[in-house]
Amino acid sequence: MKVTEHIKQAKGKTLFSFEIIPPKKGNSIQELYRNIDPLMEFNPPFIDVTTSREEYVYIEKGGLLDRKITRMRPGTVGICAAIKHKYDVDTVPHVLCGGFTKEETEYLLVDCHYLGIQNVMALRGDAMKHQNYFEATKGGHQYAKGLVEQIQNLNQGKYLHDVMEADGCSDFCIGVAGYPEKHIESPSLKSDLKRLREKVDAGADYVVTQMFFDNQKYFEFVEAAKDMGIDVPIIPGIKPIAIAKHLQLLPQVFKIDLPEDLITAVEGCKTNKEVRQVGVEWCIQQSKELIDYGVPVLHYYSMGKSSNVQQIASAIF
Ligand code: FAD
Repeated sequence: MKVTEHIKQAKGKTLFSFEIIPPKKGNSIQELYRNIDPLMEFNPPFIDVTTSREEYVYIEKGGLLDRKITRMRPGTVGICAAIKHKYDVDTVPHVLCGGFTKEETEYLLVDCHYLGIQNVMALRGDAMKHQNYFEATKGGHQYAKGLVEQIQNLNQGKYLHDVMEADGCSDFCIGVAGYPEKHIESPSLKSDLKRLREKVDAGADYVVTQMFFDNQKYFEFVEAAKDMGIDVPIIPGIKPIAIAKHLQLLPQVFKIDLPEDLITAVEGCKTNKEVRQVGVEWCIQQSKELIDYGVPVLHYYSMGKSSNVQQIASAIF
C-alpha cells in the first residue's frame, strides 16, 4: 500500500515508521533482522531502506595501490523485498540520482514494480567522499526533481527512449526530502522551499524531513511550506542522540543546530550510557509534542541500531 494511503487510513492517528541502512558488504542480513524484530510490535506501516553512494577503495596489487569504485552497503532493493516478504510490511527503497544513469534507475524501478514495492524516496544523494560538490553521474539526473519526473513518467507508462507500457503500469507513491533548517547548499530556506515545491509539482506525494532537535524548526517549516502552496504530508524525521560525539558530528554532517538545553544535558553526562538516556528522553519529549501537533507519522532514523528507538516507541505508541 502507498504511504499516503496508510496516512489516510490512520484517520489522524500518528503512525510509527523507521529507516534502516543496509549492512556493510560481506555482513549477514541477520543482524538487520535482529534490529528490526523488536520494532515490529509498534506496527510500522512502512520501513525505509537507504542507498549508499559509491566510494573509492584502494586495493594493494603487486606493491601498487589499485583504485576501485564500489558501493559499501549494496542491496537496498533486495533488502526491501526480503523485509516485505519476512514481515509483510511495505518498504521504501531510497533511489538516488548520484551514481546511477537514467537507464540504471529505470531497471531498478522495474525491479521494484515487479516486486510489488509501491513507494520510493527520490533523492539526489550527497557528493562522494572525495568530492567537494555533488557531481551528476554522466547520463544521470542533476537534481531529485528530474528523478521524480522520471518516476512519474514511468507511472504513466513512459519508459526512456519512447518505449510505452502496454498495460500494468507502475503507480509509485513518491517521497522526497525536506529540510527544516534548509539544505546545506541552498542560499536560503525560502529558495530551498521553492525547490521543494518544484519536486511536489513534478509529482512527489509526500515529504520526509531531515532530522531536527528543535520542534519549533519543524513547525515553522510546515507553515512556510503551506504558505508556499505545498499541500502534501510532511513527515518529521527524528533521531535520538546516542553518543557524546554526536554533538559535533550531527551539525557537521547534517548542518543542523542543536538546542542549548540538549547540549548542556549531554555535556553533563559522564558516560555514553548516560548520553544515550538523555537522547532517548529528548526524543520522547519531541515525539509527544509532534503528536500533539498532529503529525501523520513519526519517522525514526535508527541508523541500524534499534534499542533506543524501541525504548522511545514503547513510551509513545
Ligand atoms: P535536491 O532536491 O536535488 O536538492 C539539492 C540541492 O539543490 C538543494 O540545495 C536544493 O535547494 C538545490 N536545487 C534543487 N533544484 C535546483 C535547481 N534546479 N537549481 C539549483 N539548485 C537546485 N542520501 C543518500 O546518499 N542516501 C539516502 O538513502 C538518503 N536518504 C535520505 C533521506 C532523507 C529523509 C533525507 C532528508 C536525506 C537523505 N539523504 C540520503 C541525503 C540527501 O541525498 C542529501 O541531503 C542531498 O544532498 C540532497 O538530496 P535532495 O534529494 O534533497 O536533493
